Amino acid sequence: MHVPSISMCPNCKSPRLPHRVCSVCGYYKGRQVIQIKKKEEKEKK
Ligand SMILES: [Zn+2]
Repeated sequence: MHVPSISMCPNCKSPRLPHRVCSVCGYYKGRQVIQIKKKEEKEKK
């Protein structure tokens, strides 16, 4: 029985792949490594 290894993000408590940057908050190993847009910014045309 294969159990997918899922780690929990210590920052936002969301399930994420281990050894991967959390795609929800952008944290990895207790530090933010990527910027996550909280909301989609409206672009003016
Ligand atoms: Zn997270």
